Amino acid sequence: MSSNPVVLITGASRGIGAATAIHFARHGYDICLNYKTNHVQAKKVAQQVEGFGVKVVMLQADVSSEEDVIAMFESIDNTFTKLDVLVNNAGILKPQMKLIDMDANRINEILMMNVTSAFLCCKEAIKRMHNGGSIVNVSSGAAKTGSANEYIDYAASKGALDTLTIGLAKEVAQQNIRVNGVRPGLIYTGMHRDGGEAERVDRLKQKLPLGRGGEPEEVAAAIYFLGSEQASFTTGSFIDVAGGL
Ligand code: NAP
Repeated sequence: MSSNPVVLITGASRGIGAATAIHFARHGYDICLNYKTNHVQAKKVAQQVEGFGVKVVMLQADVSSEEDVIAMFESIDNTFTKLDVLVNNAGILKPQMKLIDMDANRINEILMMNVTSAFLCCKEAIKRMHNGGSIVNVSSGAAKTGSANEYIDYAASKGALDTLTIGLAKEVAQQNIRVNGVRPGLIYTGMHRDGGEAERVDRLKQKLPLGRGGEPEEVAAAIYFLGSEQASFTTGSFIDVAGGL
């Protein structure tokens, strides 16, 4: 049985999640790699992770489904005796529109995917963090800006995630479990294509003080810092990785 620390990263088949899996693997963590649909891409990430000599388990699950989340954590139990770090990274956004054009189906799907999913994964992770642990919630700079005219629903979901981070950090501190958040902004990933504008980062980057878009690896470094023992006295805190936004 491996004595490496174990991290579960949700939504790790591409983008920030994939970069985070590789970053933790580089630092000697065994990786539980969750994805929803893209098995081929997840397999590629898993192969990169294995290149660091650590163990990787691929876990297909829709983290907005309670049934899937429970089954995913039971699969982890079959391979590992503990869980050290949870990264709630999986998240979606929908095509840009004003609130006046949004229907309840869209809003509820965003909340289920970006908020309920994190609650469910935190619940199952905490049950397994017997000797303490760490949770990192991947929020967004949108939680502070509100994303007017684009996706207020998404921004509000990230605001809820930040409140979960603040409350849960206090709730589990006595169990030596830390809970922190990272707020990326304008990172080059496929998410913007799903949001209806693949070139969105390049359109907006000049408005950032740093004048450029971010790379997934730059977010992964902040997630790793907060998730690992490097941040052993930090809980209920946030790092903005958004070029000065
Ligand atoms: P991305 O490239 O679109 O990747 C999303 C990942 O989440 C994929 O691996 C996808 O898996 C997975 N996923 C989606 N729905 C899922 C579900 N229900 N269950 C399990 N996995 C699911 O996204 P990203 O840009 O890397 O974003 C990662 C996180 O950073 C998100 O929470 C996002 O809100 C946040 N963020 C991103 C930016 C940015 O500029 N990119 C800015 C602020 C915040 P499959 O492909 O297998 O379906």
